[in-house]
Amino acid sequence: MTTTSTAADELLLPVPDEDGAPFWEYAAQGELRVQACAACGRLRFPPRPCCPHCRSFDSEWRRMSGRGRIWSYVRPHPPLLPAYAAQAPYNVILVELADAPHIRLAGNLVTSADAPLDSVDPARLRIGARVHVVFTETGGMAVPRWILEKS
Ligand SMILES: [Zn+2]
Repeated sequence: MTTTSTAADELLLPVPDEDGAPFWEYAAQGELRVQACAACGRLRFPPRPCCPHCRSFDSEWRRMSGRGRIWSYVRPHPPLLPAYAAQAPYNVILVELADAPHIRLAGNLVTSADAPLDSVDPARLRIGARVHVVFTETGGMAVPRWILEKS
């Protein structure tokens, strides 16, 4: 999964490849799905053609609960691309999925799907905090982001 920019003042957008396209198609439907081997059943991420465990090329996309925990985070600071510099300091988190703790997704912790990247007070960032996924509509795509669970 790679990213590109459509303009200097816009955030980077995912560029789905053949293996990852279903991830983004499900995201557009508001579903967080992870590729699973149709032969041995193990989940894998990032998406790829062949199962690293049993070498099967058969796969399916399994729906996740959308819940997880912050496994790690960073707060990027300039120099950054202009669109990111405008929102810095923001956060980038790694989320360990509740349904598949060996799978970690990179994203941003926000206060709501349409909130800016700096919408969460950095003091609230905590490893282990429970989060759940939301989908932000941007540039014609639905990008997974994360919000804190009410505790
Ligand atoms: Zn397999």
